[in-house]
Amino acid sequence: MYKINDNYLKLPGSYLFSTIAKKVAAYSEANPDKEIIRLGIGDVTKPLAPAIIDRLHSAVDEMAKAETFKGYAPDLGYEFLRTTIVENDYKARGCKIEADEIFVSDGAKSDSGNIGDIFAQDNIIAVCDPVYPVYVDTNAMAGRTGTYDPTTEKWSDVIYMPCTKENGFCPEIPAKTPDIIYLCFPNNPTGTTIKKAQLQEWVDYALKVGAVIIYDAAYEAYISTDDVPHSIYECEGATGCAIELRSFSKNAGFTGTRLGFTVVPKDLKCGDVSLNSLWARRHGTKFNGAPYIIQAAGAAVYTEEGKKQTGEQIAYYMNNAKTIRDGLVAAGYEVFGGVDAPYIWLKTPDKMTSWEFFDYLLENLNIVGTPGSGFGPSGEGYFRLTAFGSAENTVKAMERIKNGKA
Ligand code: PLP
Repeated sequence: MYKINDNYLKLPGSYLFSTIAKKVAAYSEANPDKEIIRLGIGDVTKPLAPAIIDRLHSAVDEMAKAETFKGYAPDLGYEFLRTTIVENDYKARGCKIEADEIFVSDGAKSDSGNIGDIFAQDNIIAVCDPVYPVYVDTNAMAGRTGTYDPTTEKWSDVIYMPCTKENGFCPEIPAKTPDIIYLCFPNNPTGTTIKKAQLQEWVDYALKVGAVIIYDAAYEAYISTDDVPHSIYECEGATGCAIELRSFSKNAGFTGTRLGFTVVPKDLKCGDVSLNSLWARRHGTKFNGAPYIIQAAGAAVYTEEGKKQTGEQIAYYMNNAKTIRDGLVAAGYEVFGGVDAPYIWLKTPDKMTSWEFFDYLLENLNIVGTPGSGFGPSGEGYFRLTAFGSAENTVKAMERIKNGKA
């Protein structure tokens, strides 16, 4: 008789976005005349930039001719994309990363889940709280998190690092020593980020205790502040302790097109075992390469036109972020994030819980956001709005907040 991986049975239900969808559907059915503005989901809304679309079209045409047709892509990614990434994302920032340290994939979600394959089950993980849920859930699936306590909403074997306004949403070095540390900056959900000197402290700590940092930089393109690092490899020694995850989803609108990459430096070793070789083995065995058409489109993001056009999209979203920040501040809210990230994290007023504030916004102002408690216990009392809506709707939403009515 076969057995299932019963770690899956320990997972709490993922109710956040389904509960939101149900509440919005019920409200909308009862109030069909109301116009609901959705600032909840972290998905882009602008179409792919023209330079990317042109390259997609020409890559499709290449697939139609015997001379230019491509079959399986190289497991680790096409050389043209890996070298382009190295030149633009790393060399240009003074980071010593080489093309054989870049592993092209179908996105940062898969990589952030799959990276656990190369680590032993008895590693202790540390995560920020609140957090992008994939890190914890995938470790739970691998049997690395112990038991789940529904009262505290925590796993017994996970180190939670609270990120609240008291510590500027930057985790503190935990009392217990972790083996694997997940960091994500600019952060989802808080929209806040980390200064280079603060990140250097984490790198020094990881090197000292022999931990590995999984650094999720999916929102790197939104950074505008000077001393905020775009890559963990801007920190000294980071190639000896860090893996970096990157995505084309938020910088170039590839959420539905799917492309990302992971950097595993050759310096990164557990004893004398190279993590780069382990990940190459894992990736080559379980992944057959991102499609040529998509990798070609990914390279177009780095062309002069591509950079200009995707830069304009990011500026558009960040203008929405400013509208939201300014609107909330003017209405007396305490607001965080939204400067180097497309997320705005606000303190709920009058000691409302995150869900009470969700209901208030939906029912009184017809605005949908995301309750902070859905991202972890320390998210209680906070709320996330995203800058990915249209400029018109974002302005309209802030007018509703200002007037206290829809
Ligand atoms: N990492 C973080 C922190 C995210 O917020 C998201 C998506 O929202 C992802 C990764 C997923 O990226 P991708 O679309 O490349 O899978």
